[in-house]
Amino acid sequence: MPFERPAIIRPPSEWRSYYLPLTSGCSNNTCTFCNYYGVKLRIREISEVKKEIDALALYARQSICLPDIPRVAYAVARTWDGEKVFLQDGDALVYPFLELKEALEYLNEKFPHLERVGIYATAQDVLRRSVDELRSLRELKLGIAYMGVESGDDEVLRKVRKGVNYHQMVEAGRKLKEAGITSSVTVILGLAGVEGREKHAIETAKILSAIDPDYGGALTLTLVPGTPLYEEYRRGEFHPISPFKSLEELKMIIENSNFTDCFFSSMHASNYLSIRGRLPYDKESMIRELEAILARKDPSLLRPEFLRGL
Ligand code: SF4
Repeated sequence: MPFERPAIIRPPSEWRSYYLPLTSGCSNNTCTFCNYYGVKLRIREISEVKKEIDALALYARQSICLPDIPRVAYAVARTWDGEKVFLQDGDALVYPFLELKEALEYLNEKFPHLERVGIYATAQDVLRRSVDELRSLRELKLGIAYMGVESGDDEVLRKVRKGVNYHQMVEAGRKLKEAGITSSVTVILGLAGVEGREKHAIETAKILSAIDPDYGGALTLTLVPGTPLYEEYRRGEFHPISPFKSLEELKMIIENSNFTDCFFSSMHASNYLSIRGRLPYDKESMIRELEAILARKDPSLLRPEFLRGL
């Protein structure tokens, strides 16, 4: 089956990157809340990847568009900062290791001034690689890996079929660190529903502290039609938390976190409130900000539901 270019789903910080697909879908397509649920992983031929890199180089130097390169590639190239490349898709680190190295080598050859390559990675992908292998990717400018941790509560991880547990995720974070790859991890407010929310928040603060990433991000659960979690909700088996309860979870995570130096934010479009700061330095001010909002409970202070994104 021919490779189909995936839709652009990327971390907020990659907004000026060039999005280069290596895969589409996700190798761990079992997470019950995710829009990749059940989406089959496809691996793109390395020859196709290199062809697109060639086309990008031609466009960057001479503004020439080739007829057999998708228009979307040129649309992305037009706003590209020329510094960062983001490898798509849901967990591009699953791409066969030697081919991944080949793609990075080729990118470096064609764009010697490239600053950083970013990638989504599952903990499973990271655990599959040795620290030396990860280090060799780092030497080829793979500078940041985005990993969805979602929760530190093993019961929640099992329920949402994440496929890894607390300890495996901490181990994956440790490996990235040892390899010198910047880690950016995300967690999901509301993933345990009403009943499990307190334990979810406490355990999530614990796993974030244990991983001690460079960047931490909170997302808020959005129920996606067609996913098993959405069906659980429709059957009345999953009880979502309210927007203000999501802020209580966020506050609990910040209060109980213990980072060395982490830029922590809730800037993602799924959140009801955007806050950010460097932890531990801004812990008190971030907590105060949340407390002020929670004391007023004024819905007009929150992002309206229709403006929330995935
Ligand atoms: S591993 Fe990540 S991208 Fe893949 S299905 Fe789970 S949450 Fe979605």
